[in-house]
Amino acid sequence: MRLALALAAALAAAPASAGDEPEAKAEPAPDRALVVAIDPGHGGPHPHAGARGPRKLYEKTVALAVAQKLGAFLEAEGATAVLTREEDVELPLSARAHIANEADADVFLSIHCNSMATAEGRQQAQGVETYFLSPDPTDAEARLLAELENGGPAAMPVTRQSDPVKGLLDDLSLGQARNDSARLAEFVQRQMVRTLRAQGRGVRQAPFLVLSALKMPAVLVEVGFISHPQEGRKLARDGYQERIAKALAQGVLQFADAVLQKRLVAAGERPKQAAPAPVKPPRSVAGLPGSR
Ligand SMILES: [Zn+2]
Repeated sequence: MRLALALAAALAAAPASAGDEPEAKAEPAPDRALVVAIDPGHGGPHPHAGARGPRKLYEKTVALAVAQKLGAFLEAEGATAVLTREEDVELPLSARAHIANEADADVFLSIHCNSMATAEGRQQAQGVETYFLSPDPTDAEARLLAELENGGPAAMPVTRQSDPVKGLLDDLSLGQARNDSARLAEFVQRQMVRTLRAQGRGVRQAPFLVLSALKMPAVLVEVGFISHPQEGRKLARDGYQERIAKALAQGVLQFADAVLQKRLVAAGERPKQAAPAPVKPPRSVAGLPGSR
């Protein structure tokens, strides 16, 4: 997996690097592997540790562990994984998006754990949910979650625009990526529910800043409630983190096969060579039950 930290630092200093390609690339080149940007949520000291679970388990730790395992699974399948962070370091949301865009990633996943604020909520709420970007949250809960993940209601936007999410949605060139994000969310959510046998809380929408500046299909996954007494303990386990990673890998590969590959075939009039497949055919990740 490529180390993205140096890149992150460089990008934070100079967002528009001199090596930029002038033209945006809408499709993966026909001869390269699928590139998946993986973003372990949060990182660094308080208040950047994310939600807290049992026994001082922090969201940032679970997110990083799952991200690293996911990267390994995807690379074993022939994809290229680009992690936005590989250590317990603070990283602005805008830098995470820059890393994915600069890597020309085909898919972006931000990994998080959910949490409830009230004692009653902590006892009850569990399960997995997958979000894609929308200015209109699915409901009040989705809006609160986005506020939390964005760093509070007064979080700095990615750009200086007053409403970066709306700005993005006005950009028609990104419309396809937005439609694809909804499809990606469905694949990923379905695999998590199946593989983890977790409670499925559905595919949802909210204005997440980390998703708002991306050029590729992107989702934010809440892989479980770290605040739930049982699910929180599960999230700490290596074996369970591995199952989450396998589920996410499976979802991404299925999406790549069903959506990205089909589009390239449909585009038909590709010049030059009868292209080799741009993305690996989805094979079931070892140890997974039914991969369809
Ligand atoms: Zn989070």
